[in-house]
Amino acid sequence: MKMYDIVIIGSGPGGYVAAIRAGQLGFKTALVEKYNTLGGTCLNVGCIPSKALLDSSHHYEEATQHLEAHGIEITGEVKFNLEKMIERKAAVVEQTCTGVKFLMEKNKVDVFTGVASFESPTQIKITPKEGTPEIIEAKYTIIATGSKPATLPFIKLDKERVITSTEALKLSEVPKHLIVIGGGVIGLELGQVYSRLGAKVSVVEYTDSIIPTMDRGLGRELTKVLKKQGFNLYTSHKVTEVTRDGNIVTVKANSPKGETISLEGDYCLVAVGRLPYTRGLNLEAAGVQKDERGRVVVNDRLQTNVPNIYAIGDVVRGAMLAHKAEEEGVLVVEQLAGQKPHIDYNLIPGVVYTWPEVASVGKSEEQLKADGVAYKVGQFAFRALGRARASMDTDGFVKILADSQTDEVLGVHIIGARAADMIAEAVTAMEFRASAEDIARICHAHPTFTEAVKEAALAATENRAIHA
Ligand code: FAD
Repeated sequence: MKMYDIVIIGSGPGGYVAAIRAGQLGFKTALVEKYNTLGGTCLNVGCIPSKALLDSSHHYEEATQHLEAHGIEITGEVKFNLEKMIERKAAVVEQTCTGVKFLMEKNKVDVFTGVASFESPTQIKITPKEGTPEIIEAKYTIIATGSKPATLPFIKLDKERVITSTEALKLSEVPKHLIVIGGGVIGLELGQVYSRLGAKVSVVEYTDSIIPTMDRGLGRELTKVLKKQGFNLYTSHKVTEVTRDGNIVTVKANSPKGETISLEGDYCLVAVGRLPYTRGLNLEAAGVQKDERGRVVVNDRLQTNVPNIYAIGDVVRGAMLAHKAEEEGVLVVEQLAGQKPHIDYNLIPGVVYTWPEVASVGKSEEQLKADGVAYKVGQFAFRALGRARASMDTDGFVKILADSQTDEVLGVHIIGARAADMIAEAVTAMEFRASAEDIARICHAHPTFTEAVKEAALAATENRAIHA
């Protein structure tokens, strides 16, 4: 029987990054993945393909709607080819997954293809699609089996017309009317892809705001922008029924006034979140506990109730984000090597890759109010920024929340062009426990979008933004 120091189950960003770090630290490491390609949800049907389609559709929108204002005239018709877009996306995915395979070889990680299931706390059976199962021995195991799309109990996902994000990444036609259930990050990103390509998009959201887990100011601003872009947003609407008749999907929902609305579309994307995935793992044989929501229970060192078994990423508590999974993978392996790594979960940034982008780190105003923390707000609108006017990306703002007494930055919330990249400055500053004045005193290159961060910090410091 093959023996390993660390066996990692699942090759998503949690699992494969853990495997690389384990290889770097000299552990004899195995990675087990049930699919033929490595990279998990993120690389195959998540972060990377969705960003590839967002980019392609963004180019099309630029060409058809924005270039004229820049003095660029297209004399012929601008057309898109959905098949080619999906092919390009697939090529990006393939390249990225192949890159992970290369990294496994480079770091001397043995890769097994098959479903991993526990035989005991130290023995793992790998069952390939074809051929005989193999049992390997693990001193330590890291469960990194990720998540799967959630649905509502009364919805029948047929994966043709009533679909999840996985199918939405490979449609063969642009929907005429795409009904999205769920106004969170995945629904809005994929909704925007098809809206740019000409679909009518209606989003039905149960809570009173889109992107409800982020600072409410961001949701309000994004609502304005998406409505300008032609989105129909039904917040505070509870979906009660989804039915399909041929190519027509009907979604019924209760409005806040108690009325029933009925939307008819040709596709319905169910984007109501994701559920931890542990099917097939046979956790019982190892004695690993799950909580009432199906997540593997871990302590703050990501150790399960079975001391030699750890779990990371979407399958445990916390934000379902690739970079959170990566940090956790590194943390577990470094601990096993006797190091003392640390993750500050308050400083895991969250990003929505719509345009304008939305990015956030730290506490929202709502959280600070609930915690009874006295805070001050510095906000700066992109429209006052030379760089934003130069590219006509004037929607959005940067909002910095700082402690009233100490001026320490407690939260940064950005909606606007390139927010996804700009949030890194805020995370760095907060990791070093910067005050708003610290950021305000940093020289930011001109003209850049990041000047809005400096201006918001100036506003938070003594209400002395320069260009406001
Ligand atoms: P996963 O990536 O889900 O990987 C788990 C792997 O384990 C899978 O490959 C699975 O096949 C394998 N597995 C499961 N059970 C077994 C078993 N028994 N044996 C062997 N293998 C098994 N996050 C971001 O941070 N940024 C984004 O922009 C972003 N965009 C997204 C867009 C979409 C459409 C979706 C769906 C998700 C997006 N996410 C994004 C979320 C991100 O994909 C996840 O948070 C991330 O993939 C979680 O990583 P993980 O390693 O925990 O699990």
